[in-house]
Amino acid sequence: MSISRVALVTGGTRGIGKAISLALKEAGYTVAANYNRGVEAAEALTAEHGIQCYAFDVGDFDACQTAVDQITQELGPIEILVNNAGITRDGTMHRMSAENWQAVIDTNLGSCFNMSRAVIESMRDAGFGRIVNIGSINGQAGQYGQVNYAAAKSGIHGFTKALAQEGAGKGITVNAIAPGYVDTDMVRDVPEDVLAKIIKKIPVGRLGSADDIARGVLFLVNDQADFITGSTLSINGGQHMY
Ligand code: NDP
Repeated sequence: MSISRVALVTGGTRGIGKAISLALKEAGYTVAANYNRGVEAAEALTAEHGIQCYAFDVGDFDACQTAVDQITQELGPIEILVNNAGITRDGTMHRMSAENWQAVIDTNLGSCFNMSRAVIESMRDAGFGRIVNIGSINGQAGQYGQVNYAAAKSGIHGFTKALAQEGAGKGITVNAIAPGYVDTDMVRDVPEDVLAKIIKKIPVGRLGSADDIARGVLFLVNDQADFITGSTLSINGGQHMY
């Protein structure tokens, strides 16, 4: 593996994204971590680990292009893109606002287009690229109160397979990871009694850790993983076998 490869992790300052940023850095990649508003977490990541952080909204097409240009100038062309940034805005259909539908689609799925579009030409020129999109068990199985999130995450899986076909002849692999329930701020928002019921349904008997997901990303972005493309790696403790 070339240790100089530049990796960009969206939402790379907290939770799963932070674990991915740290794992990539530890493996020798040059890492850029994106975030939206959480300045404190970003500053801590830079201070404690020397990872450069970039604030922009992954749901904003122009902002993604501008940021990718800046990162390319500062660190070099992005060869590894991890589309990890995501949000939830839960509510049953009869209560869901159009804003909460759109915000989740834009941040979780629109971002995959915005970011991939911004890096794809340089990856094609280089004849090398690795894109990993973070989906979700709830995109595979659906989830009560999450029509917006399940639709966006399910969309990621189709996006992955289509872009994988386009990238295959250019040395670009595109894969998805579908995490189960992982112990991050996102899951800490779930009420305790609901979470206890969820854990009972996980055959290995625990929530996932952010490191469980980061290890999957490391595997997929390796130079030697060039025969793995268009796949979805489920990391969910056996909760859903897809
Ligand atoms: P967290 O809420 O812990 O962290 C989310 C990260 O995304 C933060 O760095 C946040 O930045 C960033 N982010 C949010 N919105 C934007 C935006 N518009 N533009 C740029 N960055 C943004 O989430 P998790 O670590 O739990 O989740 C990471 C991914 O994994 C998500 O895609 C999620 O859907 C998916 N996932 C998570 C599961 C879980 O159980 N936790 C299960 C399955 C999938 P800021 O600090 O600025 O807000």
